[in-house]
Amino acid sequence: MFKPTAITLALSLALFPAPQQANEQRVIVTHKSLPAPQPDTLGGQEANSPAQQAPAIKKIELPDMGDSSGTLISPAEEKEFGEAFFRSLHSQITINQDAEIQEYIQSIGQKLAANSDAPEHPFHFFVVMENDINAFAGPGGYIGVNSGLILMTEAESELASVMGHEIAHVTQRHLFRAAEAAGRLSIPSAAGMLAAILLGTQSPAMGQAAIMAIMAGNVQFQINFTRENEEEADRVGMQTLAASRYDPRSMPTFFERLQQATRYYGQAVPEFLRTHPVTASRISDTRGRAETYPYKQYPDSLGYQLTKAKIRVLSDTNTAAATEYFQSRLTQGTVEQRTVARYGMGLIALKAEKFKEAEGVFQTLIHDYPEQPQYAIALARAALDARNYPLAVNRYKKLTEQFPDNDAIKLDYIASLLKTEKADLARNNLLSLNPQMQRLPTYWELLAQAYSDLNQPAESHRYLAEYYYAMGQTKDAILQIKLAQESKGLNFQLSSILSERLHFFFNQEQEAKRNR
Ligand SMILES: [Zn+2]
Repeated sequence: MFKPTAITLALSLALFPAPQQANEQRVIVTHKSLPAPQPDTLGGQEANSPAQQAPAIKKIELPDMGDSSGTLISPAEEKEFGEAFFRSLHSQITINQDAEIQEYIQSIGQKLAANSDAPEHPFHFFVVMENDINAFAGPGGYIGVNSGLILMTEAESELASVMGHEIAHVTQRHLFRAAEAAGRLSIPSAAGMLAAILLGTQSPAMGQAAIMAIMAGNVQFQINFTRENEEEADRVGMQTLAASRYDPRSMPTFFERLQQATRYYGQAVPEFLRTHPVTASRISDTRGRAETYPYKQYPDSLGYQLTKAKIRVLSDTNTAAATEYFQSRLTQGTVEQRTVARYGMGLIALKAEKFKEAEGVFQTLIHDYPEQPQYAIALARAALDARNYPLAVNRYKKLTEQFPDNDAIKLDYIASLLKTEKADLARNNLLSLNPQMQRLPTYWELLAQAYSDLNQPAESHRYLAEYYYAMGQTKDAILQIKLAQESKGLNFQLSSILSERLHFFFNQEQEAKRNR
């Protein structure tokens, strides 16, 4: 069924300012911690200098995240808050688990973060499979971008401009109020509530305690950013954008596209967007600032185009629309754009289980571009989805040799090993993966599967518990630990790990119910 793209933006943590609240809100970020204002250099010698020589961003010392009354949340607590936030998101929405998409969004995000004014701050970027236009920054540097927003961008720099804006909210410590609320609630309940607010949902996963706390009025969970916060995120975000060699002009361009989308929705625009518009002055301010950078071409990376094609196929329930989209591009645009359209058509065939057709498309793409991992991954996937497991294993194995650093290939290779009763090898490969992969709940699921195939039920339940915990389902995690404890083959070491984890999950569950 076609789901119209609703435009809901997270409370002004996201792209829109809240002008009517500018006077009510205290600005709690001290300007001491801000980078030196960037002088507007209209014309003159500055305008001829290359973008990478744009005014240097002053590197700042990160203060501890603190609340408005001066008490501090330590970096360790912020990390815990961020992780709880991320788990809670998993229980409320679909976080993309595709390792290829994850690798792409992480690479663009880390490039921006490295050029931000707090390159040492930890960040984790991810894609939310939602058609709504949204992007948000949570505590601990967790930054989510909706698939709907990615599909709305028409250039990689536009996507980068949104991410640069969100990174600036983090580096400029605009999340103080969220931290403040975390100080008054337990971390799990504050994290759940923050996730619900940022997603614009009233999810039951928000937790009874959190809801009651709001109703009782003893927690003022305000995370609305002021107009000043938004302007600052635009300004600092643009510096990051330019320093990362993305097009600063893409920021106002994307704002304009959002504004047009608002018009298109007319009366159907959700309340949030009506009260938090992309104002003309915001667009003109951003445009004016962008114009101080020298004009040049910024070609999109192939990774951006291929990722967008994959997201279009994965997220669009209306396959006809996606088919039409790619079909019309098979004979238009640059060679690269036509190639991406072929890839998109191949993915659609794969989704429709037209394996022979998909094979044909990917084979010709590999023939034309043997060094491009995405096409080879898609071909191996065609074998996996067609349940031709020995062929899939062969293909993935070759790819792990050709592209030894590609985590997406490793993960799919492991999945194919599990299908061919090579659980031992699958487990060993999983345990040697980059620890970053453990952020994907899928990782724990595969590990549980491997141990189940190896006839080690206690270990299997143990890792299923980690899977549920990562998905924000702590109760189910507790259940799995109990099942593990009742399983055969327990040794002393595993027993003590299990009781430790049970204790930990149990405490987390209690914390989530508790207000401080
Ligand atoms: Zn914002």
